[in-house]
Amino acid sequence: MDVVNDNGCSWINDLSPRSNIKTFSSDLNCEWLIIGAGYTGLSAARKLGQLYPKQKILIVDAQLAGEGASSRNSGYLVDTTLNDGFTSNKELENYKKKANIYKLGIEAVKRFIKEYQVDCDWNECGKYFASSKKEDQKILENFSETLSKLGFEHNILFNKDLTKRLGTNFYNIALHTKGGILLHPGKLVRAMIDTLPGNVNLYENSPLLNWKKINGIINCNFKNGSIKTKKIIFATNGYLKSLGIKTNYNFPITLTASMTRSLTDSEFKSIGEPKEWGVLPVRPMGATIRLTKERRILIRNTAEVHNPYQMSKSELKKRQLKQKFGIKKRFPQLPDNIIQSTWSGVVSRTRNSSQIFEKINDNIFVAGCYNGSGIGVGTLFGEQIAIKASNENSKEIKTIEERNKPTWLPPQPFLNIGVKTRLIYERFRARSEI
Ligand SMILES: Cc1cc2nc3c(=O)[nH]c(=O)nc-3n(C[C@H](O)[C@H](O)[C@H](O)COP(=O)(O)OP(=O)(O)OC[C@H]3O[C@@H](n4cnc5c(N)ncnc54)[C@H](O)[C@@H]3O)c2cc1C
Repeated sequence: MDVVNDNGCSWINDLSPRSNIKTFSSDLNCEWLIIGAGYTGLSAARKLGQLYPKQKILIVDAQLAGEGASSRNSGYLVDTTLNDGFTSNKELENYKKKANIYKLGIEAVKRFIKEYQVDCDWNECGKYFASSKKEDQKILENFSETLSKLGFEHNILFNKDLTKRLGTNFYNIALHTKGGILLHPGKLVRAMIDTLPGNVNLYENSPLLNWKKINGIINCNFKNGSIKTKKIIFATNGYLKSLGIKTNYNFPITLTASMTRSLTDSEFKSIGEPKEWGVLPVRPMGATIRLTKERRILIRNTAEVHNPYQMSKSELKKRQLKQKFGIKKRFPQLPDNIIQSTWSGVVSRTRNSSQIFEKINDNIFVAGCYNGSGIGVGTLFGEQIAIKASNENSKEIKTIEERNKPTWLPPQPFLNIGVKTRLIYERFRARSEI
């Protein structure tokens, strides 16, 4: 495995190239080893660096740090996600537990950007859960009831207001939540790389091939060398399963997204010059679509079971057609050829949408699996898994551990059959919303 992801992502390619990229080719020893340098791994490394200024801490990634899902996402730092309304207090209680984790996630990112003065195009403009289907009003009214019970400010909007705010008359109904932030995911993760403490060593382009614990020491074999460590944290998210971690509890899903160039003045005028906005679909397989600060349109409207490693150019091209279609549907006046880049990214899912945060064996820890909402939760879980691995406790860990735990998944081939069938069903339900 040479590269884990393709190199077509605008969020990454717009940043200045990094220098000082280190790899290793010998046999190393350390006290702490973190595998995976996305939000989770980098946040764990930052925390460990602060807790143990004199210890040797290594963080290793298969590709360039931050260039996994952490740079490839849509940039919604969420406070709430949509569920189809709740019928019992128990479900409401579960939703509250989830929302408590999102809240801590937002606080963790806020703390980080404040402490290090990070510019990541932070915009507290909230987000829309929107649909072109008038019948989805029922779903949004149920959701509204849940949000009201939990004290989340929101309002329901209809076609006329939405056309003004979004610059498209595609949507007939939406629920706007006041909370929730839009940001530039690539800038955020780049800042996490640039601010790693001095006692943390980052090695890149160094895939872990296999690992084994022998006499209390964890032996890791990489493509280019080996590392022996006393403690390890796995933060490889969509690739946990490929390293044999919690294999019956998570599975990877591959998403693809496209981004246009900046709209010209006249194109921007033609859509009514709206302010930056972000729309999430009411039906799970519908499109996530965003107008960025730079007047670019981002659209993500595929999710599939796919070999999680690199998607080829021709495979990306096919997905791009769907994304072009999604933009055209909403903005017919825009030209056909404005998509600038298309990329794929891998997320990790569990059956019941709960995250993984645990000690899997003495000195072996894992955090991940955020089911598509990992900007805040990944940052939080990274910091907190470092604290847990240090045998310390915190109020955040208490909240995290109160969540429902991930439930068991059936083995292959039943898992793939089940997931594929579900995706086909959801795709059918959301066919007007891509
Ligand atoms: C298209 C898309 C849209 C999304 N939209 C949103 C959104 O709007 N909001 C939101 O909150 N979340 C979103 N997500 C999810 C979010 O990006 C992830 O939950 C988050 O980035 C997870 O962070 P992480 O650090 O755990 O994993 P990653 O960023 O995936 O980092 C894992 C790292 O592990 C490395 N790795 C893998 N295998 C190995 C190995 N064998 N050896 C060494 N290193 C290895 C990878 O190279 C990678 O860098 C989206 C994801 C995608 C793909």
